[in-house]
Amino acid sequence: MAGTELEPRDRLRCVIIGAGMAGLLAGIRLKEKGDQFVIYEKGDKVGGTWRENRYPGLTCDVPAHAYTYSFAPNPEWSQFYAPGPEIQHYFERIADDYGIREHIRFGAEVAACRYFEGLWHITLSDGSTDVADVVIAATGVLHHPRTPDIPGLDSFAGDCFHSTRWDDTVPLDGRRIGVIGNGSTGVQIVSALSERASRLVHFQRSPQWIMPVQNFIYSETDRHAFRSDVSNIDAIRFGQDYWGGIRRFNAAIIDADSPEMAEIEAIVLRNLEESVTDPELREKLRPSYRAACKRLIYSPNYYAAVQRPNVFIETGPIERVEPEGVRMRDGTLHALDLLVLATGFHADRFVRPMIMTGRDGADLNQAWAVRPTAYYAITIPDFPNLFLLNGPTAPVGNFSLIDIAERQWAYIDQLLDLLRQGQCSAVAASHDALADYEERRITAARHTIFGSGCTSWYLDAHGVPLTWPWSYDRFAEAMAAPKLSDFELA
Ligand code: NAP
Repeated sequence: MAGTELEPRDRLRCVIIGAGMAGLLAGIRLKEKGDQFVIYEKGDKVGGTWRENRYPGLTCDVPAHAYTYSFAPNPEWSQFYAPGPEIQHYFERIADDYGIREHIRFGAEVAACRYFEGLWHITLSDGSTDVADVVIAATGVLHHPRTPDIPGLDSFAGDCFHSTRWDDTVPLDGRRIGVIGNGSTGVQIVSALSERASRLVHFQRSPQWIMPVQNFIYSETDRHAFRSDVSNIDAIRFGQDYWGGIRRFNAAIIDADSPEMAEIEAIVLRNLEESVTDPELREKLRPSYRAACKRLIYSPNYYAAVQRPNVFIETGPIERVEPEGVRMRDGTLHALDLLVLATGFHADRFVRPMIMTGRDGADLNQAWAVRPTAYYAITIPDFPNLFLLNGPTAPVGNFSLIDIAERQWAYIDQLLDLLRQGQCSAVAASHDALADYEERRITAARHTIFGSGCTSWYLDAHGVPLTWPWSYDRFAEAMAAPKLSDFELA
């Protein structure tokens, strides 16, 4: 450690990439510390995933009062599970209330970050440049749409778009609509459109387990109670119902043989058996893999939606797309006016395709040649003063990513304090620390329910869950204080 001769810095100069939930959080926290920062956002609005996803039925399946910043509770949520536009509005308001908007450069896409001579040199796609002590990558996880490789897709004569590229000008009522994909997105879209389409075909490659939930409306009386006493909000977001549920769910996913997992399996199985009356349809909808292997889908109304007479679940293989619609391998043609691709994301990209070059020319694509990873999901050897929020190996599941990002920020901030206090000018995890973390993580990840035998975006290219494999409490403990012996300080 070179530190003692360094002077404390008045303030750090930081670049945050992305003005979604995590980027706004970083901005708020850096502002509190008096650091200098800019947020580069390639879009024209804040909100990240909530700006990009505008499909009908969009709802967050984490309780709204838990899907808020801990320091900015929102008494105005209209429902237990908030609709997407309300969440977007929340982030817009936060950007104003916390004075973050003036720090954001919209329409500014970062193309490359190169570390040399102790600084990050940032190049934007318009050719402009910037220099910073620290880069915070708040670039999101599910950001790059995955378009299916189906022959003839371009030949379709109707409207066709990915779920994140929703075209509001395309009419929906009374039309023949096809939805490919039945992850959380496809299920929400089908549930919302089943009452509007004249015919709705849901193309299902693998069935999904569905966790039944109730989404209740908050009355004006409820909202008044939330406004007048924050303890009514705290009872939801910090209460036993929510955290007890998180801990039970967490115990289930990290131990596939746990009683908690058996409880989830019993609930989703009962939901299927009791909600779907037609035996043929029930068998179409019955997965052959274990519940929660793919991200568990929470839905109040999917089974009701697919039992409407105008809805058809297509389970056969797609042969090709033709101008009139989707042709199945058995020759059936589903004639359609609109085809929605709810086919997910390239979940392994993280900060890429940005070019990230670390110390001595280290290339992130090479560092991530086997799989994207980061020590405790936050820092990468040879990439000093680069910190990731919701980076690879962070907890995923049916949790609030806001809570995860806030805990990660508390950890990052302690590392930034080393820079602020002049204890070092560069900090990154060591290679040994990352190797040890990955060895332990991969061993544990193989035994989680995510690794129990299904396809999902949780898995890396080698079929190993790219996730935090231990308990949420262990994550909270890990984030409470960095173990400095695992870091290289220069
Ligand atoms: P996803 O879970 O990755 O699902 C993609 C779907 O597309 C799967 O059903 C997949 O089938 C299907 N698919 C992909 N390529 C296909 C092809 N060539 N032919 C036929 N089917 C194909 O994506 P997502 O539904 O967008 O959800 C991603 C994640 O976003 C969720 O897991 C969740 O974390 C998040 N999300 C959250 C909420 C929320 O309420 N909080 C809402 C929406 C999304 P296979 O299963 O057979 O691969």
